[in-house]
Amino acid sequence: MSVADLVDQQTATALGDELHAFAAELFPICRSITGDGVRSTLDRVGKEVPLVRHEVASGSRAFDWTVPDEWNVREAFVTDRRGRRVVDLAEHTLHLVSYSTPVDARMDLEELRPHLHTLPDHPEWIPYRTSYYARDWGFCLSERQLAQLGPGPYDVRIDSTLEPGHLSYGECVLPGSSTDEVLVSTHVCHPSMANDNLSGLAVATALARLLADVPHRLTYRFVFVPGTIGSLTWLSRNEETVSRVRHGLVLTGLGGPGPLVWKRSRHGHRDVDAAAEHVVATRHGEIRDFAPWGYDERQYNSPGFDLPVGRLTRTPHGEYPEYHTSADDLSLITGERLAEALTALLEIIDVLEHDRFPRSLNPKGEPQLGQRGLYPKVGGRSADASVMAMLWLLNLADGEHSLLDVARRSGTAFHTIRAVDARLRDHGLVDRPEEPRTLDGVTLAT
Ligand code: ZN
Repeated sequence: MSVADLVDQQTATALGDELHAFAAELFPICRSITGDGVRSTLDRVGKEVPLVRHEVASGSRAFDWTVPDEWNVREAFVTDRRGRRVVDLAEHTLHLVSYSTPVDARMDLEELRPHLHTLPDHPEWIPYRTSYYARDWGFCLSERQLAQLGPGPYDVRIDSTLEPGHLSYGECVLPGSSTDEVLVSTHVCHPSMANDNLSGLAVATALARLLADVPHRLTYRFVFVPGTIGSLTWLSRNEETVSRVRHGLVLTGLGGPGPLVWKRSRHGHRDVDAAAEHVVATRHGEIRDFAPWGYDERQYNSPGFDLPVGRLTRTPHGEYPEYHTSADDLSLITGERLAEALTALLEIIDVLEHDRFPRSLNPKGEPQLGQRGLYPKVGGRSADASVMAMLWLLNLADGEHSLLDVARRSGTAFHTIRAVDARLRDHGLVDRPEEPRTLDGVTLAT
């Protein structure tokens, strides 16, 4: 079995249900850029794939950045005069501003109000707010909840710690026969939001689990990092690894609305861009140019690294109303969309693993296909398509065009062209790929 076979082998429905269930399991965890929420998330991922958890001390430098103090919270709530909890972290992890400093105080609404955040345009939703790099505290609540608050006084309690500790990130390396690497990065720092964060986490974990079971040429390195500071920390500790990264993908926002969207690497025309653009186009998705705004692709594409890293999402951050609110819940993502994203990733990987520049062994005129049993005796629509794919490949097999070029020019899926290539090789009509790659003398499937 090869990576390509995985595309057909998984029944999308079962896979989708599994992906959604995984996101649901991680949903309640109170995550931030550091702390036990990240650790328990990584522990859960580590039950699916071989994951190494790294702990980097607060105060460590990551280029122009410093690993912050570690934040943990036990409980946080606001109580009215009758002892009723009017806002409570236990009810939703978004109720507390992430990185809130400890508070134990009584105050009137007037004093409390600057620390309360709502979304007036969406009175039922709770916003997502953070205060990583400025010491502050606050609660997030729905506009409807706020409207019910009287003048007070209120008891405000935030039982949190913000002190020197560690930043945690996870890494799963799946060695191939080549040391050339594919970097797959996803962030793990958002609390209970399904599309922005958990969709990428679920799809990346499932992708690693599938790849762990099949032979592959490239080495896959999955990094599960807190946004920005996590990827910067990883980069600062992996400058040598980075030189082996040939292709990279940032994954997030894969279960929400809209078609697949590929955001190109900053260079724009890397192999991973070509592979992803072909796959996303066959799935009626959208291609966008790089911009220095978004997720961790910003760090990977900074000029000091300039890695060939693009990003796969559906409707990107900030372009759907539920983004960074409590409405980004488990009902916003569907198993079907998660499964499609995973299948698309397997197709992209199929291109990265198997693309090559075939050369015709019968380049003068068309070879006689009928004589070799390659031409259908009775014509039909599907036969026409496979014959066309064969004719395109034979025509472009000049050593200058890749299989992906043939797929794009003929408007055929890459895996079909790859199957045609194998068939033509079997009939001695195109050259064979270079020698099978070996590792320590053991021949591996290519
Ligand atoms: Zn986000």
